[in-house]
Amino acid sequence: MNTSDSERLSSGFEQMGFDSSDDPAKADVVVLNTCVVRQSAEDTATGMLGRLAKIKRQSPAQLGPMVAVMGCMVGPDQSELRRRFPQVDIWARPQQFAPILESAGIRHGLDPEGCLSGAVPLNPHVASFVPIVHGCDKFCTFCIIPYRRGREISRPAPEIVHEITVMVDRGVKDITLLGQNVDSYGHDIRPRLDLADLLEQVHEISGLERIRFLTSHPNDMSVRILEAVRDLPKVCENINLPFQAGDDALLVNMRRGYTIGQYLEKISQVKETIPGVNLTTDLIVGFSGETDNQFERSLDVLRAVEFDKVHVAAYSNREGTYASRNMPDTVDRSIKKARLVAIDEVQQKIQTVKNAKLVGRAFEVLIEGRKRSRLHGRTRGDKLVYIDTQNSQSLEPGQTMLVEITSSSPWSLEAYLAPFSYADDGNNSHRVNKEKVPVA
Ligand code: SF4
Repeated sequence: MNTSDSERLSSGFEQMGFDSSDDPAKADVVVLNTCVVRQSAEDTATGMLGRLAKIKRQSPAQLGPMVAVMGCMVGPDQSELRRRFPQVDIWARPQQFAPILESAGIRHGLDPEGCLSGAVPLNPHVASFVPIVHGCDKFCTFCIIPYRRGREISRPAPEIVHEITVMVDRGVKDITLLGQNVDSYGHDIRPRLDLADLLEQVHEISGLERIRFLTSHPNDMSVRILEAVRDLPKVCENINLPFQAGDDALLVNMRRGYTIGQYLEKISQVKETIPGVNLTTDLIVGFSGETDNQFERSLDVLRAVEFDKVHVAAYSNREGTYASRNMPDTVDRSIKKARLVAIDEVQQKIQTVKNAKLVGRAFEVLIEGRKRSRLHGRTRGDKLVYIDTQNSQSLEPGQTMLVEITSSSPWSLEAYLAPFSYADDGNNSHRVNKEKVPVA
């Protein structure tokens, strides 16, 4: 979400006539787009603010950069932040681009008029993100997001479709629709529509090849959405469904709104509806009071579901949340670290086995870039693939190639360009559109 916000703000600056700079000491404007979902992310932001204070102190009067801080660090009341960080000129809440552009405009005699509407990235990555719903209404006890990003607000579908159409004109082939709870999209729009309706509309955009969405809440993942994933050819067979903890008592304390039994039922429904689906999840270890037995239940879920990828984080107390006021952060740091390692070990074995089964099979890969002699891209199932390309210097990011997987690791796959005779082997995790596949 932050990457997408930064791209949009950056586009506004470019339209005003600013260039980008890698060096904050040489920049006229520095915008720090912050994340505070974990303590480590907040520490990174405050460390950077210390560096910017030094740059401002060392600059001649009035010539230091204008410093703006945007994103989740900025809540509704900024008085404490202003006191702690006097080096910051502008505080802006998530997606509040206007005050930043306006202040930069006043300072440098540039007019931001018209640079905000349609702040679509000018040079978007071939696989790009588009926020479709901002904020969150769920209030999980450990999470600061609803307090910082506010309540859920869905963007109008025509605005989203227009934005993606422009992005596709600028070279985007793979779009990920974003929301803290993307699958609750549309509940606040009248006449009502849902994520399945939006997927259908985005699917109509000519030139767009792949559609994904992140992140889903198990309680909002409807059969209608799953059937849209199954039935719309451009929608990739990826579902990210966080479970956060494998123990019911912890799930109650987290206020997640489901039991682990209900979660596993939902997973079965996903697997039945979308054969070959790639499943990922998010998980917290060391939440307040988590015992060894409760942690074991999280490992049990990993073994039962066999996710393709797991995003795991050690719990860190976020001031302002319900948990920070009512549930002491009791699990020792060393225990959290050991649990992270245990999760990695179990998951690594699962991914080793799963990825090894892909060797020898053919997949469509959308090329996203080149590193030295190797191209890299992703399958529809979001597997990272490195392609050995002896005779393919002419291949460019944005092309979709058919490849044969030659080897695997838990984290990525190696491949070479497949002869055209490889076709869809019937597993719809990589439906091959022969029209699009160049003859190798
Ligand atoms: S659903 Fe996600 S974003 Fe919303 S409060 Fe829970 S963890 Fe935070």
